[in-house]
Amino acid sequence: MGELIPIHPDVEAFLKREQKLLIGGQWAAAASGATFETLNPATGQPLTVCAAGDAEDIDRAVQAAQRAFPAWAALMPNQRERLLHRFADLMEAHKTELAQLEVLDNGKPWNAAYNVEVHVAINQMRYYAGFPTKLTGETYAISSPDFHVYSVRQPLGVCGAITPWNYSLVMAAQKIGPALAAGNTLILKPAEQTPLTAIRLAELALEAGIPEGVFNVVTGFGETAGAALTQHHGVAKIAFTGSTEVGKRIVGASAGNLKHVSLELGGKSPLIIFDDADIHAASQAALWAIFANSGQNCVAGSRLYVQRSIYDTVQSALAAAACALKVGYGLDTSTQLGPLISQTQLDRVLGYIEAGKRDGAALIAGGSRIGGDLAGGYFMQPTIFADAADDSLIAAEEIFGPVLTMFAFDNEEEVVQRANASRFGLAAGVYTNNLSRAHRLARTLNAGVVWINTYDWFDPAVPFGGMGESGYGRELGRQVMEMYTELKSVWVKL
Ligand code: NAP
Ligand code: MG
Repeated sequence: MGELIPIHPDVEAFLKREQKLLIGGQWAAAASGATFETLNPATGQPLTVCAAGDAEDIDRAVQAAQRAFPAWAALMPNQRERLLHRFADLMEAHKTELAQLEVLDNGKPWNAAYNVEVHVAINQMRYYAGFPTKLTGETYAISSPDFHVYSVRQPLGVCGAITPWNYSLVMAAQKIGPALAAGNTLILKPAEQTPLTAIRLAELALEAGIPEGVFNVVTGFGETAGAALTQHHGVAKIAFTGSTEVGKRIVGASAGNLKHVSLELGGKSPLIIFDDADIHAASQAALWAIFANSGQNCVAGSRLYVQRSIYDTVQSALAAAACALKVGYGLDTSTQLGPLISQTQLDRVLGYIEAGKRDGAALIAGGSRIGGDLAGGYFMQPTIFADAADDSLIAAEEIFGPVLTMFAFDNEEEVVQRANASRFGLAAGVYTNNLSRAHRLARTLNAGVVWINTYDWFDPAVPFGGMGESGYGRELGRQVMEMYTELKSVWVKL
């Protein structure tokens, strides 16, 4: 047992309140009066009660965001920047609380929440805070002397953001930053499992002086609040991160008014280790590629391909390392892996493990729920399968839990073909010391991001997104500003 982080008094006070929706700068219960409990997945116990917004609340939020839009869009860019920087400053000042809310609501380890994720979210907010003064159009060299033609970038209007529970703070910041920097107003519907950091962010945004109605939060369920947001004709764009299945539904729902849609969906990402690589570094990377955030990671390196001559060595190293990982309560500083998010998720993951065994794969580590002191939460052993058929369920489907499937391969051509034989295309990793091979694979792997001799790195400056059924559009980087603006061409007859 490591040191136990004491709960911050402001977090205790926050959890004692009944949580509300933020609509047009006012905190309000859901119009229907409905509420839901958010649980601590490490204990299965309720943390606090939240408002369950539905279509009526979404409609009120859209109206508030529409009213706020003209003034926010017309605000001088340097003033929008000041407000967004103040928002980032407040996130920084309250980073302990934000990290604790994330640990309690999601279960994740303190080190990941406090030392990594809060900083990632703040850095994203600062990166986008700088954008209002850097948005530009172009002038065009048209083939006629009689015109001056230029373009301007303009905000879309009211945007909707729908986020998942695995990195709720980071996912929220990643959407709030560019949406507001571009001059849009926003309604955020966080995942029902982890609504708390979104609510705290909304308080900080108000405190920062972001005008009422510019940033609204409607907590609630996907089938009601989420669906209403995607169908609403007053919404110009939906930025969605979540499952491929729901992503497809959102594309359908958005057709009514032809909303812009950007989709960051699931994956089944390959990590490939060649026998010329640094085997120790590669094995460590493979361990964290799958087990970080207990495998509940869209870019999880869930398919591991190891060249046959080093396969046994890597397999034993990984099995030993997986069994040695410390699974436990997030606020215990020695914890490396927290629980899964819910009983439903645990049951899903255990279902895949049964399918893997039934299909004849060899279980070489883990495979079970963890009982004992941890029996109240949704804890699972880090799990590794070997010898699965390429087309078996555990080899092809996104499990979204701490389950690795490893395969042996013989040569480069074969492994590229197997790695690319997936409906997803989010991320891929390659470990090799052969420079030409590294660049060759970077070119041929079907993935929105390829990591060479590393895995799972992000920076606000670097675009991120998927191919195939992992979604379309990109987040992060300067390109995302294009996803939150319209490009207008202007012709002037001289
Ligand atoms: P999910 O079920 O798709 O939920 C994501 C969000 O969509 C939640 O806020 C959810 O609300 C909402 N939602 C559900 N049904 C909806 C509907 N019909 N209309 C509108 N919104 C709806 O995904 P999840 O299980 O929370 O997250 C896991 C998935 O997200 C995995 O597949 C993972 O790969 C993916 N993911 C992708 C990325 C990426 O960047 N590519 C990052 C993280 C996660 P409720 O909370 O009420 O269900
Ligand atoms: Mg929760």
